[in-house]
Order: sequence, then structure tokens, then C-alpha cells
Amino acid sequence: MKGFAMLGIGKTGWIEKERPHCGDYDALVTPLAVSPCTSDIHTVWEGAIGERNDMILGHEATGTVIETGKEVKDFHVGDRVIVSAITPDWGSLEAQAGYPMHSGGMLAGWKFSNIKDGVFADVFHVNEADANLALIPKGMSLESATMLCDMVPTGFHGAELANIAFGDTVCVIGIGPVGLMAVQASTMRGASQVIAIGSRPICVECAQKLGATDIIDYHNGPIDEQVLALTKGKGVDRVIVAGGDRTIFIAAITMLKPGGCVGNVNYFGNGETLEVPRIAWGCGMAHKRIEGGLMPGGRLRTEKLASLVNIGRFDPACLITHTFHGKEHINDALLLMKDKPQDLIKPLVILN
Ligand code: NDP
Ligand code: ZN
Repeated sequence: MKGFAMLGIGKTGWIEKERPHCGDYDALVTPLAVSPCTSDIHTVWEGAIGERNDMILGHEATGTVIETGKEVKDFHVGDRVIVSAITPDWGSLEAQAGYPMHSGGMLAGWKFSNIKDGVFADVFHVNEADANLALIPKGMSLESATMLCDMVPTGFHGAELANIAFGDTVCVIGIGPVGLMAVQASTMRGASQVIAIGSRPICVECAQKLGATDIIDYHNGPIDEQVLALTKGKGVDRVIVAGGDRTIFIAAITMLKPGGCVGNVNYFGNGETLEVPRIAWGCGMAHKRIEGGLMPGGRLRTEKLASLVNIGRFDPACLITHTFHGKEHINDALLLMKDKPQDLIKPLVILN
């Protein structure tokens, strides 16, 4: 079979690979639609998780089940499924402790395009199919369903990590597809003012549609100063970080009220350390928490998030600005994600 792979840091291309083996609890899936993630960009072009050779990329796919292991109960050949980007080992001690995304070691629930081949392939392997797949609800578009693999659960996890409560003021730093879903999640969790930080007009327009009450452009000066000015010096109750570089916590902590919380879902691709501002962090005593996390993954969470879309609460298909047809366009879509042109939020490649 063929797959579109990271050949080494900064290098990608199509390779031939053996079709994966399906274990007793597993499934093999052929993709219906895939989407590249900014994380693929950090992985390939920043070498963020180190060297990877001939590793098939991609962790966002909807697909059709083509084989199941003999112990798989709920999924069958021909089922159309949403495959979560994070596919934990649910029997692990880490999962039992409430951290399935770290099953088997830190970040090890993130298997596709990290510790095994990803989904930009003719066929890919899903461990623990009953726990890690979800059926695409009847009538749901591939656009909406594919955004449920990673963009929705990650943006929503940002709101969970920030622990948004009714009436909280929230700042969402970064309004790419992940940050936009964090804006959506903030409004659904009852935020009052939602300040969104970004610059590309297409993202700004989408943020406003999803509930952002104020927009700040980080090109117009330090964002903490702009947020403090907007809030009459008070700052915000919660911050979600979905963009920015390794100095972003300086602004995030400075704009946060004492007792507030930063929920980070950003993937910092370089640098040895991340900076925290001493004075704004109350010299260590401000009760300003930073929670950073990989999204949890799994069937139940995917089904629940899909039910929100299915019942009409929101539709993540609004994130897709570029649609390609055919696997020969996977590279085009990936390069769009790398270059982030003005008219891009998220590309989708439809395969079947
Ligand atoms: P994008 O690159 O599409 O969006 C980044 C956003 O940050 C844009 O709105 C951009 O603004 C803004 N931005 C850039 N620089 C700054 C700055 N200095 N200060 C403030 N804002 C800035 O990313 P995605 O939405 O695709 O992904 C966001 C992050 O989430 C990535 O790091 C990705 O790897 C990570 N991720 C994490 C996952 C997890 O489970 N934790 C899963 C999936 C992704 P502009 O409008 O100018 O472009
Ligand atoms: Zn991702």
C-alpha cells in the first residue's frame, strides 16, 4: 500500500509500506476523508518530536472499516467511522487514572503520526476499535465528521482545561481551527465576554460568528496590554492558548485574574523552556493555574461531541475553506497548512 510520509525532518513524500496487521481487538480502515493538522507541520518542519523516518503522516480521518479483529463487537466491515486522533490503550493504568491520552507514557495515546503510521495511507490500523472508533451519524457530512477527529475535541478540551464557568470572561489566544472550536466551546460553557486573538480576516469573521465578542490583533501591540485596556485593567477569568510561541504564557498569565486558569492546547514545537512572568504570577503566589493537555480521544467523547453537531448545536464544517478530491492532493493540503495563506482555515481531502 501507499502512504504519504515524513521521510526525515523537513522531508515528505509517498512511500510503499506493508499493509498493517489487524490484532484481535483492532480494525483496519481505509480513509474517506483526511485533513492535515498544524501538528503535522510542527512534527515535520520543526522536528518537534524528534527524527522520524518513513513514518506515514496524518491523524485526522473518517473512513470505512475493511477488517475487524475477532474480539471486536460493535464495528463491522463497511461501517463508516470517525477515527479519533488520539487512540488510547484503555486498559492502561494511566487511562484508569483518568489520563487516557498518556496511556503507556507521556503523550503515548497519540499514536498516529507519532509512534506509528498515520492515516494518510490506503489503509491504516486502529487499536482497540470498540473504544476508539465512532460511527458517523446518519446524515452527517464528511466535512463535519472529519472535524470531529481532532479540531472539535481539541478546541473543546481547551475550554475544559480552562474550566470555564457561567459568566466567565475568556480570552482565546489563536483562532486557527483549534482556537475557533475553543471559542465555540467557551460560549457553550456559558462564557460572557469572549476575546479572540488573531489577525487573518477569514478567521476573525468565523470567530465572530461562533460567539467572539471582541477581536484583538497581536500585530497591534502586546496582547496582554490590549486585553487589560479592553477590560479596564481587570483582566479575564480564563485564557485558552491555541496559538503563539514559547513566550505566550507571559501574556496569558499577565492578562489573567488571580485564581484564574490558562488552558493550553498549543503544541510548542521548539525551545527548551517556556516562560512564565514572575511578577504577574504573584511571585509564585497568584493562584493562576496553567493546565496544558493533549485531548483525551476515545469513542464516548467522540460520540458525545458528534451528538452536539447532529442535534444542531453547531457545525464544525464551517472550518473547511479548501476541499480537494483525490489522494494526490494530500501534499497540496499539507503545504496549505504549512503556509497558512490568508484565505485558509482548514483544508479537507476527500478520497472516496
Ligand atoms: P493555526 O496555525 O491555524 O492557528 C494559530 C493561531 O494563532 C492563528 O489565529 C494565528 O493568527 C495566531 N497566532 C500566531 N502567532 C501569534 C502570536 N504571536 N500571538 C497570538 N496569536 C498568534 O493553528 P491550529 O488552530 O491548527 O492549531 C493550534 C495549535 O494546536 C497548534 O500548535 C497545533 O499543533 C495544536 N494542536 C494541539 C492538539 C492537542 O491535542 N493539544 C491537537 C491539535 C492541534 P493569524 O490569524 O495571524 O494566523
Ligand atoms: Zn492534530
